[in-house]
Amino acid sequence: MKVLGIETSCDETGVAVYDTEAGLRAHALYSQVALHAEYGGVVPELASRDHVRKLLPLIRQTLAESGMAVDELDGVAYTAGPGLVGALLVGAGVARALAWALDVPAVAVHHMEGHLLAPLMEGDPQDRPAPPFVALLVSGGHTQLVAVDAIGRYRLLGETLDDAAGEAFDKTAKLMGLPYPGGPQLAALAVEGRAGAFRFPRPMTNRPGLDFSFSGLKTQVLLAWRDSDRSDATRADIARAFEDAVVDTLAIKCERALDEAGCDTLVVAGGVGANARLREKLHTMAAARGGRVCFPRPAFCTDNGAMIAFAGALRLQAGQHEDASVKVTPRWDMETLPAVGG
Ligand code: ATP
Ligand code: MG
Ligand code: FE
Repeated sequence: MKVLGIETSCDETGVAVYDTEAGLRAHALYSQVALHAEYGGVVPELASRDHVRKLLPLIRQTLAESGMAVDELDGVAYTAGPGLVGALLVGAGVARALAWALDVPAVAVHHMEGHLLAPLMEGDPQDRPAPPFVALLVSGGHTQLVAVDAIGRYRLLGETLDDAAGEAFDKTAKLMGLPYPGGPQLAALAVEGRAGAFRFPRPMTNRPGLDFSFSGLKTQVLLAWRDSDRSDATRADIARAFEDAVVDTLAIKCERALDEAGCDTLVVAGGVGANARLREKLHTMAAARGGRVCFPRPAFCTDNGAMIAFAGALRLQAGQHEDASVKVTPRWDMETLPAVGG
């Protein structure tokens, strides 16, 4: 089954073709980062308009790279939420129209399920994680620990009470004067920083539970930065201490979640999953308990069309799709999804 995937939930236009027999055939991404940079954040109306401009050319390009004609598609998957409603509607409208014209089913994909399944998309089939496992979703809008009993059967174990981990990276970068979007730049700077030069708390780790809180950390950084010499070296030291605090906190809660779920496989997805120190720390934690941790390749941690094509293909294979109507769900609880088989 060959499925076109379309992602337009925020500021990335992503398109891919996933083939359930041959795997990922092609993928392309257009990032709107430059468009939003001067505003210091995503401007929803500009995002929608740019998806309108970029989506069809990107679909043509992806199909050409896949070596497939458009009428070879067996289905079209698109992100239906959560996300910016105008941006979502662009992808939904194009996907629905294309599916209608080709007379193939269209399937609405949950963006976070897309992220969650990305680590299952590639690699040796025998090595791919299979439920049950625990998933850590760490992106710009979410920080969640999810027990995955089956594909489509998700139980929320814990989540952030305020900022998402990625949001904390971005805001912290901004308050130390790094240009938008700061998260990856802060991580790059942390590589130059000295470990232990500053120390920030590991929020909510000294009490039971699996929830997170990252907004206080940002304030700690603000105070440390304000009272410092504000040199480049100090900025790097603070970046390192901030990253260590976030990574340690995530690792502590992941280990706790594995204990609670009685399982040893951890799957990590979302933009912060691209963070090298987080990847290393979680590998060490998992290895120490005889378990393992699985990540997507870094490019598929952040938003992309491949994860949407893959998640859509799994649902279409299970016979799931909806009647022809354009509906998006800007706020969408993943626990309400139907299970795939089982
Ligand atoms: P959501 O998926 O919750 O709707 P989103 O789609 O905006 O949010 P993603 O695209 O998954 O989020 O990830 C983007 C986030 O990941 C940003 O907050 C960014 O700062 C963060 N991020 C990306 N790379 C890194 C990195 N190497 N280290 C830390 N954070 C990173
Ligand atoms: Mg993005
Ligand atoms: Fe995302």
